[in-house]
Amino acid sequence: MALATRHGKERALGRPFRHALGLPLVLADIDTDALGTFDGDRPRPAPPRDTCRLKAERGMAATGLARGLASEGSFGPHPQLPLLPVGEEWLVFLDREQGLVVEERMLAPRTNFSHLRLAADADPSSWLRRIGHPSHGVLVRPSQPLDGPALWRDLDDPDDLRQAILRAAAASADGQALLETDMRAHRNPTRMASIRRLGFRLVRRLARRCPACRTPGFGELETLPGLPCSWCGTPTGLVLWEVVGCTTCGHRERHPRRDGRLQADPGQCPLCNP
Ligand SMILES: [Zn+2]
Ligand SMILES: [Zn+2]
Repeated sequence: MALATRHGKERALGRPFRHALGLPLVLADIDTDALGTFDGDRPRPAPPRDTCRLKAERGMAATGLARGLASEGSFGPHPQLPLLPVGEEWLVFLDREQGLVVEERMLAPRTNFSHLRLAADADPSSWLRRIGHPSHGVLVRPSQPLDGPALWRDLDDPDDLRQAILRAAAASADGQALLETDMRAHRNPTRMASIRRLGFRLVRRLARRCPACRTPGFGELETLPGLPCSWCGTPTGLVLWEVVGCTTCGHRERHPRRDGRLQADPGQCPLCNP
């Protein structure tokens, strides 16, 4: 099976696919950065889901294999809690012989995604500690570039980082450097762990056949809110149903929450605790 990556994702995905499905990964050396990069050097032409599928297809074309796998992530503020960063990860499995497209997506529960604007003489050490540098990579660029874009990366050495901050600040209209977390998988162990978790979920989905059409790839599609308040019965924003289904034939089933919870705490109720 082809895996299109230049960012070491075989470290996260090799085991689940080899052990559970007996599929060894073959690295496809294609320029995945051509489909857009996290640092904004090359804008992403398509939403992450489409980019992910495109990567998998290119990996299959490059290796001549009938099966392909690719991962894609995007990071930004949480839709409901803007101060909280959140990561979205996609994994797509394609099988040309069986005509299969199986996707798995998750909101990464943990991400170090962050940025910091900094004057040349300021101390970034507390921010660097928080994002996990140097095991997690950092990118440096001018906050307001004077002469075109400039970017420094792979700054594990404190002196290299210091120099990059000085140069970036000097090349910026406001005299500040912009520090950003490096979200490439091989420079971000937190993200690599999310991709590994997603890999196990995709393998589990591939091992389950749809009860209606017998195609592999049956699993959770979405959750629906509406768990009733234990005092007044008003539907809350908490999960009421877990929806599982098949992306090939569209068969869907609604199941109660796996944890067996039937009622929400009044503290979560829009009427009892507005
Ligand atoms: Zn209530
Ligand atoms: Zn089906």
